[in-house]
Amino acid sequence: MAQARAEELRRLLNRAAHAYYVLDAPVMEDPVYDRLYRELVALEQADPELIRPDSPTRRVGGAPADGFTSVAHRVPLLSLDNAFSHGDLDVWYGRLIKVLDREPQEGSPAPALPMVGELKIDGNALALSYEQGVLVRAATRGEGERGEEITANVRTIRSVPLRLELASPPAWVEVRGEAFIPDATFAAINAERADRGEAPFANPRNACAGTLRQLDPTVVAARGLSFFAYTLHLSEDWRAGPGDPAVPRSQWQALDWLKAAGFRVNPHCALCPDLAAVKTFCDHWELERRGLPYATDGVVVKLDDLRLQEEAGFTQKAPRWAIALKYAAEEAPSRLLRLTCQVGRTGVVTPVAEFESVPLAGTSVSRATLHNADRLAELDLCAGDTIVVRKAGEIIPEVVRVLVELRPEGARRLELPPTCPECGSVLVREEGEAATRCVNNGCPAILRGSLRHWVSKGALDVDGLGMKLIEQLVDRGLVRSIPGLYGLDAALLASLERMGETSAAKLVAALETSKQQPWHRQLYGLGIHHVGEVNAKALARAFPSASALEAAAQADETDGAPDRLTAVFGIGPEIAQSLRQWFATPANRLLLEQLGAQGLSLAAAPEQDGGGDGGPPAATPLAGLTFVLTGTLPSLSRSAAQALIEAAGGKVSGSVSRKTSYVVAGAEAGSKLAKAETLGVAVLDEPGLQALLESDRA
Ligand code: NAD
Repeated sequence: MAQARAEELRRLLNRAAHAYYVLDAPVMEDPVYDRLYRELVALEQADPELIRPDSPTRRVGGAPADGFTSVAHRVPLLSLDNAFSHGDLDVWYGRLIKVLDREPQEGSPAPALPMVGELKIDGNALALSYEQGVLVRAATRGEGERGEEITANVRTIRSVPLRLELASPPAWVEVRGEAFIPDATFAAINAERADRGEAPFANPRNACAGTLRQLDPTVVAARGLSFFAYTLHLSEDWRAGPGDPAVPRSQWQALDWLKAAGFRVNPHCALCPDLAAVKTFCDHWELERRGLPYATDGVVVKLDDLRLQEEAGFTQKAPRWAIALKYAAEEAPSRLLRLTCQVGRTGVVTPVAEFESVPLAGTSVSRATLHNADRLAELDLCAGDTIVVRKAGEIIPEVVRVLVELRPEGARRLELPPTCPECGSVLVREEGEAATRCVNNGCPAILRGSLRHWVSKGALDVDGLGMKLIEQLVDRGLVRSIPGLYGLDAALLASLERMGETSAAKLVAALETSKQQPWHRQLYGLGIHHVGEVNAKALARAFPSASALEAAAQADETDGAPDRLTAVFGIGPEIAQSLRQWFATPANRLLLEQLGAQGLSLAAAPEQDGGGDGGPPAATPLAGLTFVLTGTLPSLSRSAAQALIEAAGGKVSGSVSRKTSYVVAGAEAGSKLAKAETLGVAVLDEPGLQALLESDRA
């Protein structure tokens, strides 16, 4: 089993590495490669018999490409071991201290060794040889011992000095650093490639590697590469001349030496007295790096003292005295465990992939919706497949694709079942619709969903009626529709699991109180397709009762008069159509009747301003304006800002479009602010919003 898996991983990783290093066209995402690589390392560590000479864990990078001369490096250029968490850093540091024979006495703290934290630039390592201060050779890292000679190309990089700015240059010196393509240049290169009908580069690193391997240096010159230097190997007999920096004894001094010799050194680095300071540096840059004009994928941590570096030495692939902390992955491979289906309150059946739990963007993820039958077919999902899962920031996890290479032989293709997993009735998919539905009104899943929505916070807000209780009520046939909730008595409730007399009495009282909720909440609670909280408020303001709304919905259908529904600000034809359909369904009209019989008003209370929660009618100076809120405002909470806008007649929407009047942005505003800027939508801060509210009122 382990042997077969190791073989499978080796094959896949070797193919991916070839595509990445040699063809500059990766076939999988970096974090996915990293995760599979770590799995192979773990298998090989558990059983060294599994190690093969062709394992990707045995080599650095890729073989030199055709068309370039292969040259031996004076000092091998190795890769870096990776850490993915503070815990991994602790393990690395513990090992380093052991290698250096500095383990503390039992109970004493680990000795603090100064370290340098540098940003890990996501580019390509270069080795630059200078003789008597003149650049004589530049080479790629290649597979570590040998690289490709690309001097003519590197000469075109303006941040690589052709001659060192030293009074007495060393007989030889080798400088290592990262060549990279800034984000803006990368975007321009890909736009040009698209114009020429060529495939875009997957990321700046691949674009940079592809550029360095151009056979024509004029192409390289036009691509705008840049270079940060970070490592120095100096001939031992070098003596500094007047004004030259002294021979460096530490990485920190080496960076100074490089600056003095005329190199560009990344300014975002720090000399950290101990591991705690290193961790602070890493955490700081995890967020800050997003504002940099070039790609970074982590922090490189290096022991500062060069003598200790020498003492710690190297493994076959990487130095022991350095480690790359890579930032939280947003993509990872996982194995599909099963495909399940969820039936929502509107009967829509959603396929859900359940997979082995993986940590992603800071949380552990084990299920993701696959949306609908089309998406399922597009993914071409089979039982036991290895899938790539993505979760970026706050975004809901999704299955990006299948790693077909890892599919078990003869695996069964997965499809939506023909019948509802809840009630067994045949599922229906209307022509032209993406959704597959259960159309059985009595389906327990639909009923559970409707009840949950009715009692939810934005709707009737009934305390003490959670999912478990709803399940019991539906499964035992005690409630068959929303009005049925109001017929429940305390004695019956008290007899249910996890209920007592007190909680039963409280629930009956909460249900009774909920009847007083304002009309717009009742309307929202009905769960009409497209009628969310905002639209329910707008409709309730325009139509002060269910019967008024029903009349509008039906009149529109028959008499050809101006559409009273779409005349309401924020209500478009799709919502109007959904309302018409809802009121045309006899079961829904019966529902309203039964709710009325239970004592729900289904209308605005006389003192309500239609849609308000009571109180005097508000002025509507922001009528006709749509706002989008993003980020954290200095004093107003999101809901307080929304309430202020709505009270002044404005509408608050969740997404930015050309129709948005204003985006109100606070601290750490994200993509919505960027979109507003792209679309030219006006942006306000909190004082700006307050001013708008004030000035319009005046
Ligand atoms: P690496 O990129 O993880 O780390 C080593 C490299 O970091 C060095 O060679 C150097 O180029 C760079 N670096 C940047 N800033 C540095 C600094 N300040 N100090 C020192 N070095 C610095 O290792 P690698 O061996 O180059 O590549 C392995 C990585 O490549 C994998 O982790 C994976 O993400 C990616 N990869 C992806 C695929 C794929 O199919 N997507 C295939 C192979 C490799």
